[in-house]
Amino acid sequence: MILINIWMFFFGAAVASFLNATLYRLEKGYKYPEIIKQGSHCENCKKILKWWELIPIIGYLLIRGKCPKCGEKVNVYYPLSELFLGTIFVLFFVYAMPWYLWLVVMFLFILSYFDIKEQAVYKDLIHVFLATTLLFYFLFAFDISNIILPAIFAIMIIILNLIKKSFGTGDLLILFGLGVLISWQQYLVMFWLGIIIALLYSLVLLVSKKISLKGAKVPMIPFFSISFVITVLYGEQIYYYLLNFVEIW
Ligand SMILES: [Zn+2]
Repeated sequence: MILINIWMFFFGAAVASFLNATLYRLEKGYKYPEIIKQGSHCENCKKILKWWELIPIIGYLLIRGKCPKCGEKVNVYYPLSELFLGTIFVLFFVYAMPWYLWLVVMFLFILSYFDIKEQAVYKDLIHVFLATTLLFYFLFAFDISNIILPAIFAIMIIILNLIKKSFGTGDLLILFGLGVLISWQQYLVMFWLGIIIALLYSLVLLVSKKISLKGAKVPMIPFFSISFVITVLYGEQIYYYLLNFVEIW
């Protein structure tokens, strides 16, 4: 069992590595067939990476996060995102999550990539995401009660935005798409957990003086992705645990 889990972990990390490389090349305007044929290389000195330097996470540790030739730092986003997706693959495998949720998570991985690295996500991509989640909703998670709370939240956010713009339209649509796939109890947990993680992250940045309060823009999609994953795995437990907690007091 442990061996299978280790294998799942590296499978997830390898998928992350592949997605990162492909998205990066798409962004840089590589065309077919270079997009798949080009060997992975250092962006600074063009050194072709050896096979062991390409192993997810381990390669990063072996080269100590720097290009062995020119010393250019490798963005810590890469090993971190590999670690995340590897861990998610293991958990989804252990909890036997339905296949469409695996797809949703990989889609979230792509959206998060753009949100983190470009601070912007293509509108078309978000629309495809929304259409996909709605299709999955009708096929696999159809329940009227799933859609009510995400709809109410979406309307409230739109009204809130009229007063003070605080949510991007993309974030709003993604929250709605994710919301229809889970129960309303899970939705509550996902929404607030995402906000809390984002606030903690902002606080850390603020304390380390990387951002000022004014004009700070925190990418929300990665945080809602993390809270979505935690929610589909443990959302119901968290909800009833908190409910018990409130009743005791
Ligand atoms: Zn280099």
